[in-house]
Amino acid sequence: MAFEEFRKHVGYDLVGVPPMRCFDGLPPNEHPLSIFPDGKSVVVLGSRIRRGQFRSMEEGSLWQTPGRWLTGFDGVVRYIESQGYECVPYAPLDAAGMPKRPVRDGLCAPNGVRLSIEYVAVAAGLGELGYHGMFMTERFGIRQMLGLLVTDMEIEPSPPAKNGSICDGCMACAKLCPLQALSATESTPLDCNGKTMKLGAINANACRSCPNGVSGDSKYFAGADELHFEIENNQVKGEAKSKFARGGLPNRLAATCGRACIAHFEATHDTGYKIPFRVREPWGFRPDEERGW
Ligand code: SF4
Ligand code: SF4
Repeated sequence: MAFEEFRKHVGYDLVGVPPMRCFDGLPPNEHPLSIFPDGKSVVVLGSRIRRGQFRSMEEGSLWQTPGRWLTGFDGVVRYIESQGYECVPYAPLDAAGMPKRPVRDGLCAPNGVRLSIEYVAVAAGLGELGYHGMFMTERFGIRQMLGLLVTDMEIEPSPPAKNGSICDGCMACAKLCPLQALSATESTPLDCNGKTMKLGAINANACRSCPNGVSGDSKYFAGADELHFEIENNQVKGEAKSKFARGGLPNRLAATCGRACIAHFEATHDTGYKIPFRVREPWGFRPDEERGW
């Protein structure tokens, strides 16, 4: 199917289909076909997150943390099935009781699959990872949720990314981190489908204890050790980390680093809002401060 035709039927803010060659060489547990070996195309979808969710955290008036993963794909699943194909949506969440070993030879263990939705979004040309490591697009900055599905429908790849970077290296994310978890001077390059990004060195353990709007939407939330994961040295035991996941960082969209990026993005892009995102000095706490509760 032509990409434009698929995009119109799907109707999300962001729709991307990377060329399948982008996944060559990925380990099996990071390869999208591991969730649907008969798949022919990988689709990444994005939905804008409304700004109010971030403004209330910015003002400290309501503690709500926006999700970063799309999970409801009913419309697109119905569309793909109406064309005679099937698809498997992926959500990077862990259900209790998943087998820790493959159900048959040649497959990944169900609880070992770790797809990077952001990798697929970058490979599809939808955006890039900013210096802070969060996915950014030219339209919304960091304000979108992403989702991924694999289908046996053959879909033409989406157009490649435009030249140039969305992250302009302003370093507001690093400078405003109250825990100094994100280095403004040390970084590593990351390549994905012809795009090279510069990612700041980050202390993932500090982010996991950040009291400035981090959300635990992965297994790395406080108390996970009381559930079904085995934790050792503050890491999930036996966990293999992809270079994209960079140590299982939590959802930082509404954290100080994420909101610094939103404020900078809005100061440098026309997003159409009548009042600026940031109208007073940002707040920030450290976990070693007296909490006051
Ligand atoms: S999540 Fe918190 S600790 Fe980590 S970089 Fe952002 S503001 Fe700093
Ligand atoms: S705050 Fe500045 S340096 Fe950090 S990711 Fe956003 S644009 Fe890039």
